[in-house]
This record gives sequence, structure tokens and C-alpha cells, in this order.
Amino acid sequence: MTTNAQVTEITPQSEDFAGWYTDVVRRAEMADYSPVKGCMVIRPYGYAIWELIQRDLDARFKASGHVNAYFPLFVPESLLMTEAEHVEGFAPQVAWVTQGGTEKLEERLAIRPTSEVIIGTMYAKWIQSWRDLPVLINQWANVVRWEKVTRPFLRTTEFLWQEGHTAHETEHEAEEETLRMLGIYKEFAETVLAMPVLDGPKSASEKFAGASRTYSIEALMGDGRALQAGTSHNLGQNFAKAFGIQFQGRTRELEYAWTTSWGVSTRLIGGVIMTHGDDSGLVLPPRVAPIQVVMVPIPRGNWQETVLPRAQEIKAELARAGIRVELDAREAYTPGWKFAEWELRGVPIRLEIGPKDLEKQQVVLARRDTKAKLPTPMDGLAARVQELLDEIQQALFERAVRFRDEHTTTTDSYETFKQLMEGRPGYVIAPWCGSAECEAQIKAETQATIRNLPFDSHPAGQCIKCNGPAVTMARFAKAY
Ligand SMILES: [Zn+2]
Repeated sequence: MTTNAQVTEITPQSEDFAGWYTDVVRRAEMADYSPVKGCMVIRPYGYAIWELIQRDLDARFKASGHVNAYFPLFVPESLLMTEAEHVEGFAPQVAWVTQGGTEKLEERLAIRPTSEVIIGTMYAKWIQSWRDLPVLINQWANVVRWEKVTRPFLRTTEFLWQEGHTAHETEHEAEEETLRMLGIYKEFAETVLAMPVLDGPKSASEKFAGASRTYSIEALMGDGRALQAGTSHNLGQNFAKAFGIQFQGRTRELEYAWTTSWGVSTRLIGGVIMTHGDDSGLVLPPRVAPIQVVMVPIPRGNWQETVLPRAQEIKAELARAGIRVELDAREAYTPGWKFAEWELRGVPIRLEIGPKDLEKQQVVLARRDTKAKLPTPMDGLAARVQELLDEIQQALFERAVRFRDEHTTTTDSYETFKQLMEGRPGYVIAPWCGSAECEAQIKAETQATIRNLPFDSHPAGQCIKCNGPAVTMARFAKAY
């Protein structure tokens, strides 16, 4: 195969991981920069991945009793200002509408950075009695957070996400819901995105503005930095009190509801790229690959009368089996060009078929993850392809778990900690006293933040920073 112009356009990961990421996003036609500063265009190939993510998650939300609704994009300023901690957290990033047509507005409208405020206001109207609870609503929407430094999928001024908002009768039910959704996110990330995650509570300084407790899932990217891939918040009664979400309880007393919110965004696509990609480009887990199998006919002899019709039959057979398959029969491009192009786009399996394969009643399957080439009989092909897709899905997950394990170190020495945080560190697990001051000092000195805390931590010994008694182990990493 000849060297390919497209592939040489990609910066090697080892040379510059950030440059590699930008090249892959652009060259694989996932997203493009737009005339609006900080905003990206999600191109059809990237959007198809988002649709697969949406479809899968939406089914999980519905299976766990949630329904979808839609709330307005705008939030009146006076409403946004109601919950003090929430305002403080989001104020620096809010975009404002001050004029409608030619008229200046009497009250500024915020473009939602998140929807607790508008949804809380509506819940206060809808919830009157304990019989109205729980309310389990999800919204698929866009939000805007004014960002100074942006990167496609990872941090953009406008992005797509889902936000679940629920209201409950008791504190216990709200906590159960918060953890249930965290569990759904973890299961989804690991089984669909093949992206292993660490789940656990955030430290107080890293929690969502206005929440009682925030839990997150954290994934480790190929450059050793952690990516917060989803969050689930127990909002306690903070928002219920701010917005008057009250109901008559079973004892006829007036009570405040307990609320939660939880979300994942198009950032997950960035996570997939940086978890699995290599120097040839994207590597997509089959379950979120818009194209799972790309067929490339080898144009020899009278291939259009022989190879092409057989390829079309195979395509139909695979499609009938529910496999997302494309046949790339374009004559304007050579097979070598196509091989590199579809590798760059991360298609899990390439299926080659030429005149010699017809004679042998076989095709050649090439795996994107290992680049192994597997001659495979045409007989029973759909079943074998499905099996191979499952194998690739599993292999990608296992490879990512190995990478994470190799980049996780437990230490109680601050000297070691500092050394590890230089270069490509991964996670460092260390005992922590629980003080925000130690956390802030560690961040200032090493750039590492506490990503989250293990659920079942049995700390032994002294805080890595101040040598005071440790209350928990903490997972530190440099983060996106
Ligand atoms: Zn300490």
C-alpha cells in the first residue's frame, strides 16, 4: 500500500497529542470550526455518533422510568439569580440577550447554561402533593457557557447534552436516583463506548454549583489526562427551597421536595476519540460506529460484472443482519486510498473482496484495532462479522483498562506524587485529609485535581500534603 497523503497529515500522538486530536477531528470530518468564536459545527459523521449515543442512552433512561420534555432556551435574569451558589458558579459564563428585534428588553434573558432554574420553576407549579412524586424528566438540548479556550467536543461555547431533572418525596429516594443514573452512565461508557471509568463522589470544591453532592465518572485519555465524562448531582432541598417546590406530605404537612440533576454531553465523543485513537486516526468501538463494516472491492479484470454484484449481495446480507455496512465502489479512488481513508475514520472492519476471493468463496476482513487480516468464508459471513464486531468491542475495552492500570499509581509520598505528575502521569491515588486547602495547594504545585473519591475508601496513614490524618483516598490527575 502506498503512503497516503491523508494519513501523513495527522500529527503523531507521541509528538503532540493535542495536535493529533485536532487533526483527527478535522480529517475524519467529525467537526469543523465555525464563523462563531468557540462554536463548532458537528459534521454528519460526528453527528451520527451522537445519534447512536442518544439512541442508546434514551432507551436506558426510559427503561428506568424517565420521560422526555423540552424547556425554553431563555432564563429571565431574576429567576437565574434565585439560588445564590448556583448564580455564583455560572455567572461568569452566561451569555445574555438584551434586545428583541429593535426593542431593548426590560429584563435581560440568560441563554441557559443548564436548566435547574427554569425546570425548578415549573416543578413548583406542577408538584402539589406527595402523590405527584416522583417527577422523572429528561431533556435533550443545547446549552451555552461562554468559554475562553475551546476545543472541539471537549469544551465549546455551545454544546449538546441531555439533562435529567427529578423531584422526590424523600432524601433517600433522591440519593438513590442520583446513584442509579451514575450507574447507568458507567455501564453505558464501559459497554457502549468501551471507555472504562472510575465512579465516585467529587470533593466539595469540585461539586456542581448548588448541589449537596456531586458524583462523576472519570475516564483516562491517551495522554494520561482525565476526562470528566458525566456527572450526577444530589441537589438536596437547595433548589426546592429557592424555587418553592413544595408538596403536601403524607402527614398533611407542607414539605420541600428533594431534587437531582444529571447529564452527559457531546464531550463523550471527544472521550471516544482520545481513548481509542492511534496514529492512523480514529478507532471507533463497533457499538457507536456509524459504519461498522466498509466493503472495498478490488478492481481487477471485469470486476464490475463479477466482484461488484457479489459485493452488493453481501452488503444486503450484512444489512439484513442489522450490521451498519457501506460499499465503497467509487472508481475515482484506488483501494489503497480507500484503506487509509476508512482507517482514518475508524471503521472497525474493512471487508476486501476481489476476483481471487470469489474463486475461493471468501472475503478478507481487516480489523481496525489490530490491523490483522482474516480470510473468511462467504458462507456464514454475517454471523462471523457480528462475532468479530463483539470481539473488537471487548478488545478495545480491555486495552483501555490495561492502559489505565498501567497509568495508575498509589503513593503516600508527595515527592513521588510530584514526579509522577510531570510528563504523562495518569491517576495517582493518595491519602487525603479532606481539607480544601491541601487540595488547592496540590493543584497549584502540580496542576493535579481530585477527580473523584473511591466509594469504598479505607484510608491508612497521613494526608499526602499536610501529613494530618487521612479521611479518604483520593484519585488525582491532570484533567481536561
Ligand atoms: Zn491535608
